Amino acid sequence: MKDYESILSKLKKYGQEDVLRFYGELSADDREQLLCDVESLDLDEIAKLYHLADVPAENKFDESELSPIDVIKAPVPGDSEYKTYYEKGIEVLRSGKVIAVTMAGGEGSRLGHNGPKGTYDPKIPGHGSLFEIQLEGLRSIHAQCGSFVHWYIMTGESNHAKTVEYFEENAYFGYPRDKVTFFKQGVLPVLDLEGKLLLEEKNKILKAPDGNGGIFRALLDNKILETGDAADAGYVFVCGIDNCLVKMCDPVFVGAIALTGRACLTKTFMKRSPEEKAGIYCLRNGRPLVIEYTEISAHMAAETNADGTYKYGDANVLNYIFDINRLREALSVRLPYHIALKKVKRLDGAGNPLKSEVPDCRKYEMFMFDIFNEMGDTAAFRIVRDEEFAPVKNAEGIDSAQTARELFMRQNRIEMENPIVEIDGDEMTRIVWEKIKEIVLEPYVKLNTEYYDLSVQNRDATDDTVTVKAAEAIKKHKVAVKCATITPNAKRVEEFGLKKMWKSPNATIRGILDGTVFRTPIIVDGISPVVRTWEKPITIARHAYGDIYSAVETRAAKGDEVFLTVKSKDGGSRELLLHTFADSDGIVMGMHNEDDSVESFARTCFGYALSEGLDLWFSAKDTISKTYDHRFKDVFAEIYENEFREAFEEKGITYFYTLVDDAVSRVMKSKGGFVWACKNYDGDVFSDMLASAFGSLSMMTSVLVSPDGCFEYEAAHGTIPRHYHKYLNGEKTSTNPTATLFAWTGALAKKGMMDGNAALADFSQRVENALYRTISEGFMTGDLALITEKENPVTLGLEEFLEAVRDRIFL
Ligand code: NAP
Ligand code: MG
Repeated sequence: MKDYESILSKLKKYGQEDVLRFYGELSADDREQLLCDVESLDLDEIAKLYHLADVPAENKFDESELSPIDVIKAPVPGDSEYKTYYEKGIEVLRSGKVIAVTMAGGEGSRLGHNGPKGTYDPKIPGHGSLFEIQLEGLRSIHAQCGSFVHWYIMTGESNHAKTVEYFEENAYFGYPRDKVTFFKQGVLPVLDLEGKLLLEEKNKILKAPDGNGGIFRALLDNKILETGDAADAGYVFVCGIDNCLVKMCDPVFVGAIALTGRACLTKTFMKRSPEEKAGIYCLRNGRPLVIEYTEISAHMAAETNADGTYKYGDANVLNYIFDINRLREALSVRLPYHIALKKVKRLDGAGNPLKSEVPDCRKYEMFMFDIFNEMGDTAAFRIVRDEEFAPVKNAEGIDSAQTARELFMRQNRIEMENPIVEIDGDEMTRIVWEKIKEIVLEPYVKLNTEYYDLSVQNRDATDDTVTVKAAEAIKKHKVAVKCATITPNAKRVEEFGLKKMWKSPNATIRGILDGTVFRTPIIVDGISPVVRTWEKPITIARHAYGDIYSAVETRAAKGDEVFLTVKSKDGGSRELLLHTFADSDGIVMGMHNEDDSVESFARTCFGYALSEGLDLWFSAKDTISKTYDHRFKDVFAEIYENEFREAFEEKGITYFYTLVDDAVSRVMKSKGGFVWACKNYDGDVFSDMLASAFGSLSMMTSVLVSPDGCFEYEAAHGTIPRHYHKYLNGEKTSTNPTATLFAWTGALAKKGMMDGNAALADFSQRVENALYRTISEGFMTGDLALITEKENPVTLGLEEFLEAVRDRIFL
């Protein structure tokens, strides 16, 4: 039990007894709480706070007192100092002479997150919460130097318990528990204009955090610098929690302070314009200071150095490294309190909540920057902004999770352990290819590809061996992405002066892989299929071997008898009469297929349906073709029963055979969302019908799948020569890159799945979603703008469209 009388008399001495005005109404517990609260106050200091009234929140100075701060340009790999700094930094880190302090007292409420800000997940693909991102940095330091840095996390009064709980629940994310220490930032009472204490509740004094400079007082009060790892440390690394690109204990930064012997280095970036809102560093009478651009004249803010940088343009990143002994010395002097007049909610005399119209409360805060004034000898360590600065401050717009994701991904591009095969092609699609890589993929993915140039010129130069090599590479790496290529005809042979009329590269590759082509339309908002019932894509699988495509045919004359002769290996033979041309001339054809080919077609179709989780249909005309088409039907049925039924049932998908004419009428009434396996000729015809019924050839993807699990992704359209000629004439084209882009995302997603590379698979999905969103918002290429039912679509050029997609990847 606290002694009410002695506490009351102490309060009276300072004229603060009013805070006990509701004491009589309180329960025993609440009384105890209030007395504890009062007892913890340093009333003497509070009296001084009010009377000292040190400094108003804004600086008052004369411009003639200012000069630019010393700047060290952070070296980058390749610079001569880089290696020196880095190696020194690693040496210091290895010896355990660096501790890290993160200021994490904030709440996530401004981000729409309920909990400590550090527990907020900005949803960077492959990464976790803000705390986890910093831990990754610390783990990377351990990987580089072999020592664990001791991490001190400064929490706030309101989020301390939740923060500790978060780390406990997650077993410190695998970081050594004894290398993480939490300590609380202090609070100071809020006073009214007469210097009186205020009540937040009837049993609780109104207090507020003591400002970012409170970190120093908290370090002192919690004896952080005197105990444990900090006692032996030489340097303190300090950062905020909200910068996703912070380089925790950056060895180059550590090496720089160790080698320059400065008291403090503070990371800065150069402002983009003099007016950009950001506190900047300068010297005032030779002592470091941070000021707002509004505090100096426009003329001064715009002053430049010889290299074009602003003299007063080094903006604060909130990332410092201190020499720990120099910091200890500076902390022997109390930092000044800055007073800010604020509107603060509290209880009025009668115990009702009160928030006045005008600022009438005094909040006291210490400023981080005042330590520099105390220490002197601080230099700016100027980094490249986009490499190290991605703050998450707002729920959306600038400095939001979205901008942070984008900046983070550019700096930490997704790695690919194993390559995919990249097959380049011809004309306009070759340009589309390059733009897709440049604008959408390479900023975020370190593309690992084995490259084959299948341009018609290179096929000619290599006597088409490059095509065979590409096909062999697909067998090896399993996943490929292919650009459209010219299939030479007589006109093309002349146009390019080719040695001969080379075979279609697609046919060559398909022959080597024994593959089946699956074509799927991309359905987007605003481009409705012609068939009203179709809601999902219908994928056509075409058996690309035999039948009429390798038939033998001839003309017959009146009076001819035509036979089909089968000669067996053992010398026997059979003869079947095909037709007697009794009354007329005519035509005949002999065609074939092979069980092996039909079997591998069937297996590939079942396998693909299974991997995509789609029903499989197969159609033929077995009622009329009782041997030929019936064989197809039987092969499918046997393979299904023996190899796939169980897996299909487990996945909840079905296999279904029907006559081709029945299939056509059912397809027209279906909702879509299945794979339709077709014989060679049916597939040829129906895939073109589906392509135009779903919208446009430019929205059709195609993947060649082999029975042993190789995947080659491409667009179904050709090289778009008409657009290419415009392009060569310097005209802007509105070529639609969708199908080629989806070929890339299909290949990257497949590789991501095979390699267990979740970040790559997630990225591919994001790109596809970004494309859907772009078109859904009315931005599209010319071909779609012509057929969309959206009102006032915006037609974009090829590059603008890709940029619009890029801008939506991390929304
Ligand atoms: P194409 O290149 O597909 O172009 C035909 C027309 O379709 C274009 O002129 C264009 O119409 C429209 N189009 C196609 N894709 C488009 C896109 N992405 N964006 C906007 N419009 C698009 O067919 P082609 O002209 O018959 O063939 C050209 C060359 O491609 C030939 O040498 C052929 O051998 C080759 N080809 C290759 C493949 C392959 O490698 N997989 C497939 C087919 C054809 P507008 O002119 O009206 O704008
Ligand atoms: Mg066709």
